[in-house]
Amino acid sequence: MGEDWIENAVCRTADAEDLFVQGTAQNQAKTICTDCSVRTLCLAYALDHRIEYGIWGGTTERERRRLLKRKPAVTSWRPLLESAQQSRTKRSQAPVLAGPAAGPGSAG
Ligand code: SF4
Repeated sequence: MGEDWIENAVCRTADAEDLFVQGTAQNQAKTICTDCSVRTLCLAYALDHRIEYGIWGGTTERERRRLLKRKPAVTSWRPLLESAQQSRTKRSQAPVLAGPAAGPGSAG
């Protein structure tokens, strides 16, 4: 996997120390990732390279350890994460697509 995604990292201009905090401060630190467009790639990179420290892709080191433990055979996380993301997007659209037809004149 190339690493051009780093060019679009929200944290690129942040102080690195902000992402390498300990304990409960990590929950606050990972909010920087919320709107980052390369979040999935960042997380995949950290998981593929077994990066233990810091916030990557909106996850703490503990959360990544949990993922790695749950799926020890995965060596390339990007396809898996992207497919999970697509499923989530489809699910979040489902109520709209499957819901009753609504529009002007449908009420009352
Ligand atoms: S997801 Fe978070 S840690 Fe990763 S590049 Fe974006 S802001 Fe930085």
